Amino acid sequence: MTKSDKNSDAGPLSVAIIGSGPAAWAAAIYAARANLHPLVIEGAITEENRLKGTLPLGQLALTTEVENYPGYAAGKLDGFLDSAIDAGRRKYMPPHSGHGVSGPELMELMRQQAVNFGTKILTDDVVEVNFRKQPFELVCLSGQRIQSRAMIVATGARANYLGLPSEERFKNQGVSACAVCDGALPRFRNKPLVVVGGGDSAMEESTYLSKFASTVYLIHRRDAFRASKIMADRTLANPKIQVKWNSQIDEVLGNDEQGVTGVRIRSTTDKSKHEDLTAAGYFAAIGHTPNTDFMQGQVELTEKRYIKWTTAARTFTSVEGVFAAGDVADDYYRQAITAAGSGCMAALDAERWLASKGLH
Ligand code: NAP
Repeated sequence: MTKSDKNSDAGPLSVAIIGSGPAAWAAAIYAARANLHPLVIEGAITEENRLKGTLPLGQLALTTEVENYPGYAAGKLDGFLDSAIDAGRRKYMPPHSGHGVSGPELMELMRQQAVNFGTKILTDDVVEVNFRKQPFELVCLSGQRIQSRAMIVATGARANYLGLPSEERFKNQGVSACAVCDGALPRFRNKPLVVVGGGDSAMEESTYLSKFASTVYLIHRRDAFRASKIMADRTLANPKIQVKWNSQIDEVLGNDEQGVTGVRIRSTTDKSKHEDLTAAGYFAAIGHTPNTDFMQGQVELTEKRYIKWTTAARTFTSVEGVFAAGDVADDYYRQAITAAGSGCMAALDAERWLASKGLH
């Protein structure tokens, strides 16, 4: 565990970055190369974070292969990973699959790249912020207090799951909340798959998965979709998608060898009726929750509690000197590459803001 030697005793930082997904690491790489000596507070390794899906390295650490991040064409990365990543962390990484880069590998590479340029890292959660004073103040779970002149918030959003123990058991073994990340994996090809949800995400995920799957069972708890009409119509017209209306998932079925093998669904109108569906994968598409709880009242949030970007094409928030990047402020694109892009933008915005105030 890396502990920072930068804290309030050493005077305020120029920029502190909260989060440890692609937005945070991209921001750190740019801020470090601009000599801003950033501190990344990457999150704490706790059981609570594990259960919530908010451990360090973010959502990508929970995915398998990443085939859509530019620059990582399929190939064997073992040698590169061995030479690029600090041996102390490399030894805890699972073996490379040989397909291309995996989500955890990509995050370790980004983290290492930030470290290589002098980024300091604190493995802790921020539990409280005070953006009403300058320098801004952060309080960590460990009790450590950090002061910083500029802040980049990149804490992401966590996918909502139904909360079934069987979902937890098969995460990374056929349970996913990101069809775009995982859908094209060999384990899902030409197999029946299950999607749960009735909003635009569920429509999008099932349409996307229908390109690979033999059948997509779309499980929705009501008899009408919440999704926009155009997306719902497209879904209903897709011959590969079979909607199971008025149905809830009782359990994800599977075993240690194969991972997910199916789901047990139950009627929401007649609880005595249930059915087992064979499926190689189960995708939750029931919304996301931004990780903004620790910022209540400090920065303007949208109705859905995402941080509000206040200026078009900038990462500015309602608080001058506080910038937001990645999924914590973006409920629309939610991709690794868009998060990394906005992390870069936030670092540039922070650098220019500090310079304009004569703070750096
Ligand atoms: P959403 O609109 O909130 O829909 C969530 C769906 O999950 C609802 O149908 C809901 O059922 C269901 N659900 C929630 N909790 C559940 C539970 N415990 N058990 C079973 N079902 C549950 O979320 P979203 O689909 O992720 O969309 C979020 C926002 O992003 C929306 O504004 C959407 O328009 C936007 N979006 C847009 C696009 C696009 O335009 N391409 C794509 C994706 C998302 P009920 O309907 O019964 O409440």
